Amino acid sequence: MSDVMTGQPMALKGKPAVVREVAGVWVIEVPRFGPEGTHYHSYGQLTPYFKGLTEGRLLATRCVNPRCPIAKGAGELWLPPRADCPDCHQPMVWAEIEQPSGYIYSYTLVERGGTGLEIPCPYYQIDVKIEGVCTIVKSYLQGSGPIRIGDRVKAAFRTGPHATHTALDLYWVRA
Ligand SMILES: [Zn+2]
Repeated sequence: MSDVMTGQPMALKGKPAVVREVAGVWVIEVPRFGPEGTHYHSYGQLTPYFKGLTEGRLLATRCVNPRCPIAKGAGELWLPPRADCPDCHQPMVWAEIEQPSGYIYSYTLVERGGTGLEIPCPYYQIDVKIEGVCTIVKSYLQGSGPIRIGDRVKAAFRTGPHATHTALDLYWVRA
């Protein structure tokens, strides 16, 4: 039975990243290349984004600085989120995207992956245009068969025992 039929996230090849919380910030261990190759990576101020994914929530940021030359106090949502606005360098604020959906802006069928790729090939790498978000998100589609630019998709999440604590915890399925 396919992953799409069961509604479960597809099995990935890697192991979930080990995550520790230090002073409210997630620090992950990425042991992809064995113990000697483990490196430690802090999500810093973007921790709410990664934590949100594991809770089935998609969090973006927007600039609300009235003196921002571009946003003028009413910025659009950015994904992946930025801690600080690239235009005025002030902290951005978090906002949850309710029931995120969008359409396929472009796609690539990946038949062979590079070293460390955890998504089984072949798979579709997709760029998604989400309503209300000014950026285009690069992610992956769960499911096979022909797809077309413009196809509707909705967000899905790797939560609980399926969580990887990485950007892979957001994926998309056909709406
Ligand atoms: Zn700004």
